[in-house]
Amino acid sequence: MPSKNAIQKDHYLKQELYELIHKDNSLFDALQDSSLDGLWYWDLENPENAWMSDKGWTALGYNPEEMGNSLVATQEMINPSDLKIATQNLEKHLKNPDHPYDQIVRYRHKDGHMVYMRCRGKAIRDKDGRPTRLIGSHVDITEGVELGMQKDINADLLQLNKELESKNKELQQFTYITSHDLQEPLNSILSFSRLLETNRDRLNEIGEKSLDVIVYSANRMKDFITALLFYSRIGKEKERKRVEMSKVLLNLKIDLHEMIQKDKAQINYIGKVTELDVFENDFHQLILNLTTNAFKYVADDVTPFLVIDAKEDDEKITFSFADNGIGIEEQHFDRIFEVFQRLHAEDKYHGTGIGLAHCKRVVELHGGDIWLTSTPGKGTTFYFTIKK
Ligand code: ADP
Repeated sequence: MPSKNAIQKDHYLKQELYELIHKDNSLFDALQDSSLDGLWYWDLENPENAWMSDKGWTALGYNPEEMGNSLVATQEMINPSDLKIATQNLEKHLKNPDHPYDQIVRYRHKDGHMVYMRCRGKAIRDKDGRPTRLIGSHVDITEGVELGMQKDINADLLQLNKELESKNKELQQFTYITSHDLQEPLNSILSFSRLLETNRDRLNEIGEKSLDVIVYSANRMKDFITALLFYSRIGKEKERKRVEMSKVLLNLKIDLHEMIQKDKAQINYIGKVTELDVFENDFHQLILNLTTNAFKYVADDVTPFLVIDAKEDDEKITFSFADNGIGIEEQHFDRIFEVFQRLHAEDKYHGTGIGLAHCKRVVELHGGDIWLTSTPGKGTTFYFTIKK
């Protein structure tokens, strides 16, 4: 019984196809055009002579007519390290027919993008086994490679995101627990200070001064801890909520009632935005911090005046908070968004240095940016965006 291979070899259709191709070259062209992105044939005895199919040139963005028969031109399009590997492989294949000439080579397409070609070739040898020609093919695998890369990148990003999320949670828990636990000994210090306060008349001068410093420092510590606690709670809200700008502004004025009364401070909203989707509590804290700063960092003889604007486009809302305060020098623009960074002594302007770091995190939570412009002595405008 004839073997399967023998049947295949002698199949009448195969013979017929071979004869057809022999008689009609266009069949060969159609075959290679439909299966390959380039066919090339190289004269190894006269290496300056080579031929590449039209599709081979167009796959790299070139007009076949302008390129002629020079494969040398294509070598300049190959990534240098890939060319080195391809050349080494070719040398091995020419010495040993069993070593495959088969590799992925990166070409620079005429328009500049990268094309990944699988290049395979086979040497044709004379009767002494000496290679005289090399026939080879190109298959453009760019789409597959990019898809694979995208999958890898997506998987990496997903992993990185998970790690970041867990680190973030850890950090939030750490901040929360430390600030929470720090409150307890601090409250003891404050209660005992109050006890001493009620017996102030029994203290000598040093005792009285020491008590004042203890109370002042403990209260300041309490401010830091409260600010840190607020900071650690950012992002706890599950989802954004539609809120009315009028309600947002009303809550702001209620919270700052005392300051507004005392300093005769004014807030003027000139924006057209009437509603927006935000993490309500975080957004409230953001605008509260900016407004408090606008009212706080003013010269002694100036009545604080804040103009709030909001402009909307398809992707985002851009807010601006323009004050008539003391201003900030440009060299501090980055630093002030870091935790505990302050530009003034505590006795001049009271604060913890967490307010703007808090604002930055809230803005980032809304997919936005925060920045400022300022003229020292005239005022500062803080801008931030909220992605829709
Ligand atoms: P805090 O106000 O508690 O010190 P912030 O983080 O809110 O902390 O601000 C950091 C620093 O940036 C402040 O100490 C102040 O020097 C400066 N700053 C913030 N807002 C303004 C403003 N509107 N005008 C002038 N300086 C400001």
